[in-house]
Amino acid sequence: MNYYFHIPFCRSKCGYCAFYSEPSPDPGMFDAYLDKLERELDAAPLPPPDTVYLGGGTPTLFDPARLERLFRLIRQKLAPKTGTEISIEANPETLDRGKIRLIRDFANRISLGVQSFSAEHRRTLGRDCTQRALQYAIDLIREAKFPEWNIDLIYAIPGATRRDFFNDLATAARAGATHISCYSLTPEEGARLCDRLQPDEEEAATLWEAIPQQLAPWEFRRYEISNYALPGHECRHNVNVWRGGLLRGFGPAAASFDGALRYAQAASLTEWLAGAPPELDEIPGAARLNEIFAVNLRTTSGWTPHLWSRVPGADGWEARLRLARSAAKETSPEFFDISPGRITLSSSGLLFWNTIAEVLL
Ligand code: SF4
Repeated sequence: MNYYFHIPFCRSKCGYCAFYSEPSPDPGMFDAYLDKLERELDAAPLPPPDTVYLGGGTPTLFDPARLERLFRLIRQKLAPKTGTEISIEANPETLDRGKIRLIRDFANRISLGVQSFSAEHRRTLGRDCTQRALQYAIDLIREAKFPEWNIDLIYAIPGATRRDFFNDLATAARAGATHISCYSLTPEEGARLCDRLQPDEEEAATLWEAIPQQLAPWEFRRYEISNYALPGHECRHNVNVWRGGLLRGFGPAAASFDGALRYAQAASLTEWLAGAPPELDEIPGAARLNEIFAVNLRTTSGWTPHLWSRVPGADGWEARLRLARSAAKETSPEFFDISPGRITLSSSGLLFWNTIAEVLL
């Protein structure tokens, strides 16, 4: 079982983000959240975790006492074995030495939301983090010797040059990150700066194509459309979820997948605290299989019957082959690489994954 905890609090709202979170929360909200989480964790027996992921929002917005309580609850209820991947997302301006010590005792993977190493481009994105806070956070993470650490970057920011983005990649790699996630700027509808933050899509495609070569000197390799890792440092939580692994989500807006049904908790702290029932996503079995298939095609290892055998209700190689061939006919044969026992997308196929997914789904 893979566990996801959504901690829905942020210091302020970034200009491009419309994902559910509560900006400038008061500590009373933190306590209400933790009390409810404790009740939920007590409510049912939970199988031992394969992975644990604390995302947000900004989990590290909690003060040390509340972070400690959160970690204690998860340890007591899930009893993760040594070596279980435990990830936590962090924003630089919320980290200090005391918190890093607590986090390092609990988690073996940290994901730092940098987005850009340029203060000017972070301002464009509407992210308030000083250069000093960013450097301090990186120093703390390096000193703490996390075996796995990710840096999130955004590219195609208006006003940023290619050289700026390539510098960001090199800075992240030189800092010692083992994993780099790169997302093209995609302002979500309803985001504060949505109108102002429209990326140049052609430039975004050019930058995406250049990433593997830019990261090659440090031996990073692309393993999913937006994710790059040193060999053996892929995010296990994400890989498990992409492959149709079971997911149990806690907190507002957290999604779960029980092997047949997917459901999402209410995207509102107030409703979640009041016990609103989760929203069921009733996709018929065949569509669910196509969805898992399409998501796996985002990865460079693609789809194999071996992975499929763990997905409940999965069909066989012939059925997937037929689907891939008909999608190739409708899009482009150059998008697919089909070899015995494996279906992957070519580099141009990955770039047009959205189009392929529309056909598959
Ligand atoms: S991008 Fe992350 S830190 Fe910024 S508002 Fe959204 S959830 Fe919060």
